[in-house]
Amino acid sequence: MSDVTVAQFAEVLKVPVERLLKQLEEAGIQVVSADAQLSDEAKTELLTHLRRSHGHVAEPTQAAGPRKITLQRKTQSELKVSAAQGRARTVSVEVRTKRTYINRGVLEEQARVAQEEIDKVREQEEAAQRAIEEAAQRKADEEARKRSEEDNRRRTEEESRRLIEEEARRQAEQRARDEADRSRKAVERPAPRAIEAEDKSTRYGRQELHVSSDVSSRYKKKKPQRGRRSGQQAPEGRHGFEMPTAPVKREVSIPETITVAELAQKMAVKGSEVIKSLMNMGVMATINQPLDQDTAVLVVEEMGHSAKTLRENALEEELQNAAGGHGEVTMRPPVVTIMGHVDHGKTSLLDYIRSAKIAAGEAGGITQHIGAYHVTTPRGIITFIDTPGHAAFTSMRARGAKITDIVVLVVAADDGVMPQTIEAIEHAKAAEVPMVVALNKIDKNEAEPERVKNELVKHGVIPEEYGGEVIFVPLSAKTGDGVDKLLESLLLQAEVLELKASIQGQAVGVVLEASIEKGRGAVATILVKRGTLKLGDPILAGQEYGRVRAMFDETGKAVDSAGPSIPVQVLGLTGAPLAGDEFLVVESERKAREVALYRQGKFRDVKLARNTTKIEDAFSQMEDGKTQTVQLIIKADVQGSAEALRDSLQKLSTSEVAVKVISSGVGGITESDVSLAVASKARIIAFNVRADAASRNALKEQGVAIQYYSIIYEAIDDVRAALSGLLAPEVRDQIVGLAQVRDVFSSSKFGQVAGCLVMEGHVKRNNPIRVLRDNVVIFEGALESLRRFKDDVNEVRAGTECGIAVKDYNDVRAGDQIECYERVVITRTL
Ligand code: GDP
Ligand code: MG
Repeated sequence: MSDVTVAQFAEVLKVPVERLLKQLEEAGIQVVSADAQLSDEAKTELLTHLRRSHGHVAEPTQAAGPRKITLQRKTQSELKVSAAQGRARTVSVEVRTKRTYINRGVLEEQARVAQEEIDKVREQEEAAQRAIEEAAQRKADEEARKRSEEDNRRRTEEESRRLIEEEARRQAEQRARDEADRSRKAVERPAPRAIEAEDKSTRYGRQELHVSSDVSSRYKKKKPQRGRRSGQQAPEGRHGFEMPTAPVKREVSIPETITVAELAQKMAVKGSEVIKSLMNMGVMATINQPLDQDTAVLVVEEMGHSAKTLRENALEEELQNAAGGHGEVTMRPPVVTIMGHVDHGKTSLLDYIRSAKIAAGEAGGITQHIGAYHVTTPRGIITFIDTPGHAAFTSMRARGAKITDIVVLVVAADDGVMPQTIEAIEHAKAAEVPMVVALNKIDKNEAEPERVKNELVKHGVIPEEYGGEVIFVPLSAKTGDGVDKLLESLLLQAEVLELKASIQGQAVGVVLEASIEKGRGAVATILVKRGTLKLGDPILAGQEYGRVRAMFDETGKAVDSAGPSIPVQVLGLTGAPLAGDEFLVVESERKAREVALYRQGKFRDVKLARNTTKIEDAFSQMEDGKTQTVQLIIKADVQGSAEALRDSLQKLSTSEVAVKVISSGVGGITESDVSLAVASKARIIAFNVRADAASRNALKEQGVAIQYYSIIYEAIDDVRAALSGLLAPEVRDQIVGLAQVRDVFSSSKFGQVAGCLVMEGHVKRNNPIRVLRDNVVIFEGALESLRRFKDDVNEVRAGTECGIAVKDYNDVRAGDQIECYERVVITRTL
């Protein structure tokens, strides 16, 4: 509070200037005039004085009763006063008491005391105010430093403190006004409006006593919270405003990915606090950046809360458990994929089977390519996947959709085993799917089924007659010869495989194909694996959901149900799912929607995380210019190892080669680690952790470099080696020999020839040379000839004489030196 003049202060206090001057004098404060400045210290001193003198005065006048009203605890004093008057019944009664009996003299005395009290209260309020402000300031400073978990709580605290301050200020002013008002009125007109005056007096008295926890009933009713607080706190502000400061420990649930903002919200702290905490951990993040679960957990723990990792697929597991089709199992048709080298007849075979077995039976004969079809033979149903080749097969498998039961390997009998034949064999073997070989084009004269059979044997495809398990069927996709035999063989193979599924319950299956068609919306071909898909079923397929509005079979005919191994075209999804996505019937469309949206969110987050890295990556490349970077993703079994690795690996950075740790965390290698590695061209350092099956596939597919370690130093050595590879090799000139020119003569053959003595090392015919004169290089080039006596030689050693002709240079003089050197490439290591 700034200094004021005595007159201003008196005005504020609503006391006559003279009285204030007198009081100041009594307090021993030197004041020249009413216009003199009054410092805060002076005010405090005055207050102390008034307190002392007041106490002193109050003591002997104890018996005077009425005075006490203003000086003591209102309840007691009120009661005493009332008792003295014999009128008191309740606290509220005292109001009337005062109005009726107090005489002018007493009132005058009261008014004077009241005035002093006003001063005092005023001073106290001011002191309290200052204390509050100081405390608030201190708190604020402290807050800035403090960890953020307290932030929110403190905000609330501050808010209440602010309210309290306001309230205190308001009350002080109100009281001062009321008191002055009351005193004046009491003096001038004792009787009228005394109720009001008394009421104020009551409140005044209460306030006067600093320690009261009481409140007037009127006030209580209105604002019980504030009233209570101010009653306690206003007079002794500093103490009154203390709030419990124990940190609030929260349990924060962390999903697979969470943005910085979301995480901050969950901990009830500011985003900047989270970012700060991340920075302390060496992670630079923006407010909207998604964090992986591991990082988020660390942040949460760092900030003093406990983290609860949400099982990322809790929702999914629930779905799987609820998924139907677990009832009694019965035989189901085999699902067949046709593979083989290009032009060996895959399409022809599929077409032949389709037209022979489906179209023939259908009135219109219209067949659609919906991704799969099934044929009914006298011995059973067979389902063919309509996209031949192993690309589709593999991509399905990579997505975890194992739908093929049997592979038909088409090999043209007139051609034999070709590269894609071998690939197909490898894929089928990798997937552990049995094969049936279709030796195609046997209608051709050039067909040599036996030769082809032998070629296949060499690749591990052993026919039954050779003791193997593979059925070979010679056929012609053109004429149809042997096709029935193939179908029979497939059913035979299916029997051996004992393919079974429940036809009861909600359907579960795989999306084979999907697209958005004009006028039809999302169209998905679905292969039911178990259970039965019905019209109207709520379905979830990958990230899409919906309800089966219509179903069609491969002939375009509307159907109302589809059992195991039966492909159907389904209408009614919100969007086109991806081929290979699992689909399932769920309890309600709402549930389907919930899961689909969850998956979409997850996908978006992962995509976002990838994009972020890409941008970062580009940025670092731009920024670095010539600096080479080794990007690393570190996964370790424990946080300590991850940190140790990160630190030591980052320390390997030099101005030329930088080690950039894209991410480091705890736990096994996940698919998202792999995609991160792909996106950022990083290699993965796995310390005592391994990749799960899905990420192993991803690693293989994406060609991500991964190294497994169990000793930190080995990891460091390897990275160092990798860095050495990145260091540009240094090319140095190594002087291998020096020859002194003794004489120069002309040769008809070589022009000028220098007769030299090799002083050091050796001179080699093919090494580059420099001509030095007075130790200065005057020519750089190669040798035209190196001779010893009449012979051309390749090398002349130190201490030997020789004739040297320098190519394209004819100014060698006696006394020059010819320096012979080698370019040595030195691989640098760190
Ligand atoms: P894909 O590349 O494996 O799908 O092979 P296609 O089915 O497109 O067949 C390639 C070529 O071989 C086509 O010209 C077919 O007509 C022909 N072709 C396929 N199967 C036979 C067959 O059994 N006999 C004869 N002569 N030609 C066939
Ligand atoms: Mg084809």
